[in-house]
Amino acid sequence: SYGYATVSGREEKQSRVNDVFHRVAKRYDLMNDLMSAGLHRVWKDQMVSWLNPPHRSGWTFLDVAGGTGDVAFRIVERTRRRAHGTVLDINASMLGVGAERAAKRDLSDNLTFVEANAEELDLPDASFDAYTIAFGIRNVPRIDRALAEAYRVLKPGGRFLCLEFSEVDVPGLDKLYETWSFHGIPAIGERVANDRQSYEYLVESIRRFPNQENFAGLIRQAGFERVSYRNLTGGIAALHSGWKL
Ligand code: SAM
Repeated sequence: SYGYATVSGREEKQSRVNDVFHRVAKRYDLMNDLMSAGLHRVWKDQMVSWLNPPHRSGWTFLDVAGGTGDVAFRIVERTRRRAHGTVLDINASMLGVGAERAAKRDLSDNLTFVEANAEELDLPDASFDAYTIAFGIRNVPRIDRALAEAYRVLKPGGRFLCLEFSEVDVPGLDKLYETWSFHGIPAIGERVANDRQSYEYLVESIRRFPNQENFAGLIRQAGFERVSYRNLTGGIAALHSGWKL
């Protein structure tokens, strides 16, 4: 099991996560499509719609656990390539794939890639208009630290937006989803990435993550105001929003 209380438990969790993403980086985008049946694209689009970034240069965002860049690309494109974003991730392999994809899309000028831990951002206070994190926070051992850092680096008036797997609230769908998670996803992991264990770990991390209300509570505890959430696809995923006012 991956403990939270002890230093070694925490380090073990993070190194396990790092290991998983080093191994999956090259196939990450393909695996996302297969495992979510393409839904992750719709959810990310919904995230960026809710964010509704202004089309003005000078507006900046930080995409934490940004991985291969999916969310950051959408935000920059949504602002008609005016926004500037920092894509931050603890994993150099994921960032490497992201930087390559950015170059192919001619988005390199709008994005900076930074290798760092969400729990300790080496970034100045009050420096971003938005902080986004998609399918990342459940991998961070100390969620409260990540949220405190999010609050710190946002400008007053800044927005926090998180996309994460959550608790299914539709009868029937929950059973289907369980079957998919515990059988379908590890099976795909085995066949496509030859790595069943990593995908079992990912499913387990989803099951352990706090539900919608509890996660909203953590965001409020970090100091955010007007905290709210929206369920996506019956709660398979949820979007949480908060403001630093
Ligand atoms: N946001 C991207 C997306 O939605 O496609 C990537 C999500 S991927 C499931 C999770 C990412 O979290 C990985 O790239 C992993 O390296 C990163 N990650 C895990 N622990 C982290 C930490 N403590 N700080 C920053 N990033 C972390």
